Amino acid sequence: MVEIRQLASIGEAIFAKVNISRGTRIAAETPLIIVPPIKSTGEELWELCKAADGITNTESKELEKLPCSPKVVDAIREGGYVDNRAWCFYKSKKLKNNDGRLLKGRKLRKMVNKTINLCIIYLVNNVQLGPGGKYGSGVFPLYTRINHSCVPNAYNSWNPTLERLTIHAIHDIKAGEQIFVDYIGKTCRTRNQRGFSLYTAWGITCNCAACTDDTLDQLRYRMVVLDQALAAYECGKSEEAHLEGIPKLETPKQALNAAEELVELLKKQRLCGMELCRT
Ligand SMILES: [Zn+2]
Repeated sequence: MVEIRQLASIGEAIFAKVNISRGTRIAAETPLIIVPPIKSTGEELWELCKAADGITNTESKELEKLPCSPKVVDAIREGGYVDNRAWCFYKSKKLKNNDGRLLKGRKLRKMVNKTINLCIIYLVNNVQLGPGGKYGSGVFPLYTRINHSCVPNAYNSWNPTLERLTIHAIHDIKAGEQIFVDYIGKTCRTRNQRGFSLYTAWGITCNCAACTDDTLDQLRYRMVVLDQALAAYECGKSEEAHLEGIPKLETPKQALNAAEELVELLKKQRLCGMELCRT
């Protein structure tokens, strides 16, 4: 249904090979590497080293082909946490040579460096499995190659029954069109908020319609306000939110009106992901 193409400007991208109608499952992928649900960053890196150490050569070659922004890679390496964790991990494993002596020197360094590299590829490309990473997180070769748009035509989610990441078309997609997903996973964000997330996490600048058209940006701003007002209403904090410039929703009728306005704004901009469903 889809194919990888090389674009001079941004590298790899995924395109539809045939016409894909709305609601079609474009892909159901298994992860190349998976890290179980974790409680702290330190624990994540440890589990990640374990996962990276356990994958096959074929899997690690596939991972090494995935795109990583050099800016994000540098930012991750700067703290030295990954290097530190990978060294601790291999020291605790006490690996031995064939002659029974403790593995050290160049051989050990080669092994640690390979794991550090795989950990970084994971950190740049991983996607949470289920809400808040309930089922852990993983890296998926097709999904990773799909580019971001704030007005996506596809939606990804982890299916715990299939144990696969599914990608569905949320609009009719014509053969030859590029497939886009929303990396941020939160539609009600202003252009600045989205730009900051995209640049810091993936090192990218988005040039979609919503990021280049001021009128569309104003609609998004209204959506952010409505979304925050509804969230405050839902947890009974309308009074406090009102003080921060968010409209106060006092009655179910007012909340319903706000939700209906938000639904209209989402539909008008063809934002048909889970946020529309939830609203
Ligand atoms: Zn955008």
